[in-house]
Amino acid sequence: MSHDLILYNSLSRKKERFEPINPPHVGLYVCGPTVYGDAHLGHARPAITFDLLFRYLQHKEYKVRYVRNITDVGHLENDADEGEDKIAKKARLEELEPMEVVEHFTHHYHQNMDALNVKRPSIEPRASGHIIEQQEMVRKIIEAGFGYEVNGSIYFDVEAYNKNHDYGKLSGRKLEDMLTNTRELDGQQEKKNPFDFALWKKATPQHIMRWPSEWSDGFPGWHMECSAMSTKYLGESFDIHGGGMDLLFPHHECEIAQSTAANGKESVQYWMHNNMITINGQKMGKSLGNFITLDEFFGGEHKLLEKAYNPMTVRFFILQAHYRSTLDFSNQALQAAEKGLQRLMNAYEALQQVKASDKTSVDLNSFEQKAYAALDDDLNSPILIAHLFDLSKSINNLATGKETITTEELERLKHLFSAFVFDILGLRNDNANASGSENADLSAELIDMLLQLRLDAKRNKDFATADKIRDELKEKGVIVKDTPDGYEWEVV
Ligand code: ZN
Repeated sequence: MSHDLILYNSLSRKKERFEPINPPHVGLYVCGPTVYGDAHLGHARPAITFDLLFRYLQHKEYKVRYVRNITDVGHLENDADEGEDKIAKKARLEELEPMEVVEHFTHHYHQNMDALNVKRPSIEPRASGHIIEQQEMVRKIIEAGFGYEVNGSIYFDVEAYNKNHDYGKLSGRKLEDMLTNTRELDGQQEKKNPFDFALWKKATPQHIMRWPSEWSDGFPGWHMECSAMSTKYLGESFDIHGGGMDLLFPHHECEIAQSTAANGKESVQYWMHNNMITINGQKMGKSLGNFITLDEFFGGEHKLLEKAYNPMTVRFFILQAHYRSTLDFSNQALQAAEKGLQRLMNAYEALQQVKASDKTSVDLNSFEQKAYAALDDDLNSPILIAHLFDLSKSINNLATGKETITTEELERLKHLFSAFVFDILGLRNDNANASGSENADLSAELIDMLLQLRLDAKRNKDFATADKIRDELKEKGVIVKDTPDGYEWEVV
């Protein structure tokens, strides 16, 4: 923990030095999926962003309690607290119990995340398993004077709260603007103001997912679950709350208001948000026909996909952009990521062939310092990857004898490579079964054997064979250069 980690805090809109409340413990809460459909590229980005943070904090020897929820109740079709519950709707359409829908898509989400090598969180609580905690928090908010009841539903009184607190501090919105910009939606008559939000909703007769309460048979408002579950597992004050930028308003703004109203203080020290993924420059959306599920990526079954992409390619593609930048999907970008990942994995295999010598010409101190500096600067994974590419060049030079390394430094190099590539970036060497990894079996030894055969062929004036070996190696990413005393090769 000798290095300082700097994180961008969405609340202060600045980079800040990360100082946990109770070191070495770190409480991390990330908004998880609403499980009513297959996970898509938009789910992969927050999962991988906060997996990188989780892994890096653990690498820095923090003891992280990572809580990522499963939303299985209360997420309605629109943000104005109206419409059908997303899960209940899916259940109705499929003629299933809502909990069958939840089980199916939770299981499937786990399979997708495992494929992407996303570590499971320490706790994965479900909203439906924490109704009592949510009701308890609604009571506290009412007692504090910030909740009001209308026809069995409880709403948060934003105007009352805003008298002494700043509703809009996270999203940078002003209440006056919200008032003029929010149009009256159908069914909002119950609310004092259109920007008020539901803490508890009375269930209509056809609404299946319902629980008894002193106010009505009903269900919690969507924002309640994260406030209640983060408080339950991480305490009234905890370190980091993350999620996609699309959740910043209203979800996270409402969470701040709820926790502050119920507990009398702000609960989150650092708010972190990953940016969105666009597809060929367009926002993702079902109506645009560009909604690509992770299964479709892995199987290549979507009209926008030229081929199937290995989960590690998808992971590498996401890590190649800084989490706060927008990231645009295109086949070209994914194929570039595939090649980049292959370069790293080729370097890993070349590293296994490196023989130690009595001198070191590779500067590992400089690599180590730059690699940590990149991650410590608000998890700058693209810069880290650029340094890893530089290191890969050195590894190839070591494999071909252009550079040298001692036994001790070779061990250190192997350790550093594994730590950054496998433990922290969470990449996996899928060469054995990956598509597009034709050079999986091309070890340095095998390349040298082929090139010796090529030398023999040249000596025998069999230039056709010599050229064939050179061209086929080139196709597999090995560039051969003839030199006065034989040959040199490098993996590109
Ligand atoms: Zn949430």
